[in-house]
Amino acid sequence: MTIKVAIAGSKGKMGVEAVKMVHADEAFTLVAEIGRPGSVYTEENGAPYFGDVAEALEKTKPDVLVDLTTPQSAKENMETALRLGVRPVVGTTGFSAADIESLDKLCREKGVGAIIAPNFAIGAILMMKFAREAAKYMPHVEIIEMHHDQKLDAPSGTAIKTAEMIQETRPELKQGHPEEEEVIDGARGGVVNGFRIHSVRLPGLVAHQEVLFGHTGQTLSIRHDSINRESFMPGIRLAINKVMEIEGLVYGLDQIME
Ligand code: NAP
Repeated sequence: MTIKVAIAGSKGKMGVEAVKMVHADEAFTLVAEIGRPGSVYTEENGAPYFGDVAEALEKTKPDVLVDLTTPQSAKENMETALRLGVRPVVGTTGFSAADIESLDKLCREKGVGAIIAPNFAIGAILMMKFAREAAKYMPHVEIIEMHHDQKLDAPSGTAIKTAEMIQETRPELKQGHPEEEEVIDGARGGVVNGFRIHSVRLPGLVAHQEVLFGHTGQTLSIRHDSINRESFMPGIRLAINKVMEIEGLVYGLDQIME
């Protein structure tokens, strides 16, 4: 028995890679491609294309919905999937803590699992874990995240998740000069948990992040680079398998990496 997979956002940059990955894996069957409401494509990957999530899920009955769409649509897509008993694996970023709480509740009401991962790259998860460890000893830290210029949300979901993980070990402290003044608004980035995140957006970039620690006479840089979107596919594959075994919402690939 294979796991039946539908992919929302299948014609996007991530979606195209996910379609290839699902096709190449004998444990999965692609049953539907889903795009922006009203969009029309001819069938080209052996699975029907839909411009409506509910219609796609009702007609093709997948086990898993992979969502690689936009921050505006992902939450609604997830809710639709959960109501129909389909397990979501979501790479789309931009979920608030309140969204995560309400989606977890819906998962448990329906008795199914869901996974939201702001970053599916295994190396990026290691970067976050190493940053959490380093923050114990080097609590002065800033995050610089760099993405392609078509990204809709800033800071990235990965940067927010990294900040949350650093917060788990970082002793409370106020960084920088107490009288520091921002001459140009935003010059020092945004503040999360008492330290700074800087977001860079440029064509040519894919997804990159450096976590920079400072201490007496030394710095430590922990950097991860996704050089293409294939880098996210092993993580998506892992999440599709794992979501079949869990109940409730898991946030972050780190939670399912053993
Ligand atoms: P993209 O190229 O813009 O693709 C998004 C696709 O979603 C487009 O094909 C778009 O259709 C479609 N879409 C828009 N609204 C939709 C809806 N309501 N229902 C179904 N499909 C819809 O973006 P991308 O670079 O592939 O990224 C997709 C998402 O993944 C973004 O949120 C990005 O931040 C995230 N991402 C996550 C990871 C990770 O590891 N978690 C890594 C990279 C990117 P149209 O073409 O018609 O607009």
